[in-house]
Amino acid sequence: MKEEANDLYKRKSFTAALDLYSKILNNSELPNGDCMMEFLRTVRSNRAASYIALEQYTQAVEDLRHILSSAVHDASSKPSPDSPTATSTRKAHLRLARCFYELGKYEDAMKHLDAHRAFVGDRNVSEEKALRDKILKAQRNRQSGSSSTNEMTVPLKYVVKISQPTPTADIELNETVPLSLCNTRNPPEIQAKELLVNLVKKHHAWLLKQGPLSGGAWKCWSCGKRANGMVHTPASYLHAYLEGNNAMVVDFVQPVCVDRGPCDREARKMMQEEMTMAANIGRRG
Ligand SMILES: [Zn+2]
Repeated sequence: MKEEANDLYKRKSFTAALDLYSKILNNSELPNGDCMMEFLRTVRSNRAASYIALEQYTQAVEDLRHILSSAVHDASSKPSPDSPTATSTRKAHLRLARCFYELGKYEDAMKHLDAHRAFVGDRNVSEEKALRDKILKAQRNRQSGSSSTNEMTVPLKYVVKISQPTPTADIELNETVPLSLCNTRNPPEIQAKELLVNLVKKHHAWLLKQGPLSGGAWKCWSCGKRANGMVHTPASYLHAYLEGNNAMVVDFVQPVCVDRGPCDREARKMMQEEMTMAANIGRRG
């Protein structure tokens, strides 16, 4: 049945191939065992390819995620890169990258391309490279599109202060900001907020990986355990530009042990109180 389905796929009868793959996957009378698991992963992988050919990316993503979560790896040894298990996992990453690209989720697409890269090592895969170029181009287009067509920009310092039991140096990153947000004391509120959100989004994953400056992990600001998340509280000093200084965003970061856990909630509560206090002082002055 699988051969027949593959044949249909090759002859570009994607809908018919898809039906047949689904029939195999829904057959509950198949025997159990690692070998059968691997067979079903291949069938599912082929069904995902059919979905992609029919531009049904969301369904393809579902199948591909299932493939990734059902890999049977021997925990004691690294699977050989050419084993069937590794091959279907590698292909799933590449296909997920393709789907997320088509769905406009470029960051997820990049994540899976990187995972795919980890499997192939230095071997140059032209399909991966072509896709990578396409994603980078789409990301650039989106960025230049969202900061309203070729608007003048000026340099922005993004300063990240990380709250640690043992203080660490601030991290400073060079960014740009539309001039229209800096040459006024009252920048448009929504755009100014958007700027902060985008800065945090853009750098969050990277910052999380800089734990004591890249050789280790951040510690939870509250309990000192290994941090798995971060609470950001960015404050903008865009009008510093008016005084002849660099526009600046200062991000107060509290690494937290568990996303949404007690230390996370505590961090959010504390920052909220600080902000309210600062706002009240501002009002009095
Ligand atoms: Zn904690």
